[in-house]
Amino acid sequence: MTDVTSYDVVNPTTEQVLTTVPMARVAETDAAVARAQQAFASWRAVSPADRGRLLRRFAEQVDDHVEELAQLEVRNAGHTIGNARWEAGNVRDVLTYYSAAPERLFGRQIPVAGGIDITFHEPLGVVGAIVPWNFPMPIAAWAFAPALAAGNTVVLKPAELTPLTALRLAELALEAGLPPDVFTVLPGAGPVVGQRLVEHPDVRKIVFTGSTRVGKAVMAGCAEQVKRVTLELGGKSANLVFADADLQQAAATAPYAVFDNAGQDCCARSRILVERSAYDEFLSKLEPAITGMRVLDPTDESSEMGPLISARQKETVTGFLDEVDVAFAGSTPGGDGFWVPPSVVTTEDAGARIWREEVFGPVVAVMPFDDEEHAVALANDTEYGLSGSIYTRDLGRGLRVARAVESGNLSVNSHSAVRYWTPFGGYKQSGLGRELGPDAPMAFTEEKNVFIAH
Ligand code: NAD
Repeated sequence: MTDVTSYDVVNPTTEQVLTTVPMARVAETDAAVARAQQAFASWRAVSPADRGRLLRRFAEQVDDHVEELAQLEVRNAGHTIGNARWEAGNVRDVLTYYSAAPERLFGRQIPVAGGIDITFHEPLGVVGAIVPWNFPMPIAAWAFAPALAAGNTVVLKPAELTPLTALRLAELALEAGLPPDVFTVLPGAGPVVGQRLVEHPDVRKIVFTGSTRVGKAVMAGCAEQVKRVTLELGGKSANLVFADADLQQAAATAPYAVFDNAGQDCCARSRILVERSAYDEFLSKLEPAITGMRVLDPTDESSEMGPLISARQKETVTGFLDEVDVAFAGSTPGGDGFWVPPSVVTTEDAGARIWREEVFGPVVAVMPFDDEEHAVALANDTEYGLSGSIYTRDLGRGLRVARAVESGNLSVNSHSAVRYWTPFGGYKQSGLGRELGPDAPMAFTEEKNVFIAH
């Protein structure tokens, strides 16, 4: 992978090559960073109102191309058309939200003797964004929109498997009037372009989303230059169902909390914990919800789940399934495509690989618990801490458990998706720092303090 100069992008539904994309090498990465560094001086000087206006125009361009971007993602990533439209719309909304940020990068005035003390939020310079293949559009936007709003320039490296929508977004940015080299998309191999962004002295921050394994290497690389870094990594999130919950609702919604995007979701609630007294009833309600899932060609408007991203990902997921007994599973259309049916595994072994490791596919493990304390202990018995859900009719318990679970994003009686206007990120080995929400642009600035004597 490190010496290839082009990459065949494959449609995961047909297994056919869609197109071939050139892969940048170190020299092209250095050239892109140099151009981004040069563009930084003028981009940071664009007035806040004009920077906001340009980001709103970028959002309008995306809005005008939602259907095109969505269709492209269906072909490149096998996302259902419904999901892909949401994802393109999310890019528009994230850009619109952060277009208000340039005019709101407030500093503070702090009381001091003998003068005044004021703070400024200054952009960092060139930001390197390294993103995964599972949600190519939204995850890219969560990085580039607040970074651009704060006055940085961005070099984005999409995942090898899914460069197409990112490349189109870069064209739309130019059509919207963003100056050249303010937002660059550079397809390439992780260990080449990604690593060079980490090592390049003129890249002042890395915002990385991907596996915990690569994230640790990125963090170690950034440490060499004390480079700023945000990490959004893996997860093994718990869905805790108490006996007093609306079991019908809990069972009907659980599949979508783990099998959305064929389980290739860092927030997938891939461990379901059910209070023992409700365990059998919950499973009996879960089975029809799973077998009734519409696993169809993702271009079908009614498809709820498409194929996995690649033959390799399918192999990884089936490797997990080969080790366990599947309690019940849904169906797939079969034929071409990297299909795996939504599958449910029951276990009481908290040491089992299926219980501990991120599968990143349509597999969920279900385990009974005895009481609230046991539920929280099981939920927290993981190196991860990204998301989670709690189903109970007892509001006090809902809040208590939400506070006790060591995880960045919890929802009670829902499996709320990521909202761009609320903070998102992980505890423990699920990440470092936060994206989205009102404070995200601050993570792309240095806070400078200035004292002026009277
Ligand atoms: P990955 O870690 O293999 O790759 C992520 C990105 O890093 C890709 O662009 C890849 O090319 C690049 N990369 C690979 N090696 C590199 C290196 N040595 N230096 C710099 N960059 C390098 O992850 P993936 O398989 O693409 O994505 C799946 C993982 O992402 C899962 O673990 C999932 O949980 C995680 N994820 C996390 C979040 C979150 O917000 N927490 C969101 C989506 C996905």
